[in-house]
Amino acid sequence: MNAFENALAQLARASAVRTVSPAILARLSKAEREITVSIPVTMDDGAERLFEGYRVQHSSARGPYKGGIRYHPHADIFEVRALAFWMTLKCAVAGIPMGGGKGGITVDPRDLSKGELERLSRGWVKRMYPILGPKQDVPAPDVNTTPEIMGWMADEYSKLTGDMTNATFTGKPLDKGGSEGRGAATGLGGFYVFEALREYLELPEKCRVVIQGMGNVGGNAARIFHEHGHTIIGISDSAGGFVRMQGIDPAKIEAHKKEHGSLAGFPGGEVIDNSDFLELECDLLIPAALENQITGDNASRIKTRAVLELANGPTTPEADDILFSKHIAVVPDILANAGGVVVSTFEWEQNLKGEHWTEEDVNARLKELMQREAAAIAARAKELKTDLRRAAFIVAIERLEKAMV
Ligand code: NAD
Repeated sequence: MNAFENALAQLARASAVRTVSPAILARLSKAEREITVSIPVTMDDGAERLFEGYRVQHSSARGPYKGGIRYHPHADIFEVRALAFWMTLKCAVAGIPMGGGKGGITVDPRDLSKGELERLSRGWVKRMYPILGPKQDVPAPDVNTTPEIMGWMADEYSKLTGDMTNATFTGKPLDKGGSEGRGAATGLGGFYVFEALREYLELPEKCRVVIQGMGNVGGNAARIFHEHGHTIIGISDSAGGFVRMQGIDPAKIEAHKKEHGSLAGFPGGEVIDNSDFLELECDLLIPAALENQITGDNASRIKTRAVLELANGPTTPEADDILFSKHIAVVPDILANAGGVVVSTFEWEQNLKGEHWTEEDVNARLKELMQREAAAIAARAKELKTDLRRAAFIVAIERLEKAMV
């Protein structure tokens, strides 16, 4: 199943818990607009190469489309469509005034020089700018897109349109209208959700944590859980996982990876295969890489007490059932990783108002919102006697239904 089929299966499963009008279900099953473009880029050797780019605008029922842009060799329209769908639900779960969208380019950015990457990023904006804007569609970073890339895109957009609000792209560098706290927001938001639900999940005060992925989201989550006294016993990147039962200092392993290009050789533990990595025994498993990681094939061997989905779509519906039968709770992506889009929305609001909020202010607002919505979804799950994913979907669908009606 591709990611979008998984997303539709989740929708069907949630609507079995509480009746949802067929018209609303039909609207949520289709994006409002999908665009595929070809982007010509002059490479450093003078040759021209064409790249494929996407923007899916899933729903504007609750506000302008909002969602990141992914650069990945496997990015395609199905993946971007699924990610856009989840953004619609996520923004509704968070209660922010945004709709759902997502973008992407099929590319491995490691194959490109910095100049080629900049020309490609500006090329995506040249193709897409008529459908973007602070009141239309507000993109952000995702896998392999950085504040620097958002800065290039924002600059290209203002050159093409004359719009100087800086409010069309979020996740920008601080000196280009970025928000304090945006870099760490997804990991920090996930931590606030964990804190709000720890007792509900029956987890110990100090957990043994395994984190898949050490990019923006996984790296920040590792740092924050470590700072709060939890023990990171495993962390991984695309090449493999590193395990150390006494605990890993995230700053040290990151510095090691920067110097040596891999996790191998970090003292006191061992490198294991990515497939074995997810099956480590722990209290909290945090997928923070890509979708379809916990599937029907490996779910029965997962040995955590709970899963906090900081990646989008890491657990398939089949795996959800297996985990449920093993009493492993899953905190769904549309709640757990909403911190990124929440602070992106704060950034958009600051840009439109010409304000700059302090990091303390941003984090306090983030904490209040994430903990409030997490508690509301846990209460709804109890009331409906269902899991957190179905409860989060129901809360989102009810909010979307009100907006659509
Ligand atoms: P990133 O590019 O910064 O990092 C991705 C990380 O995943 C890298 O460390 C990479 O080595 C690792 N990785 C890739 N394949 C892997 C594999 N098979 N096993 C283990 N590790 C692997 O991306 P990111 O922004 O941290 O995004 C990670 C996930 O979080 C994605 O699913 C993304 O959609 C989601 N997300 C991101 C944000 C955000 O604000 N950036 C917000 C919400 C959700």
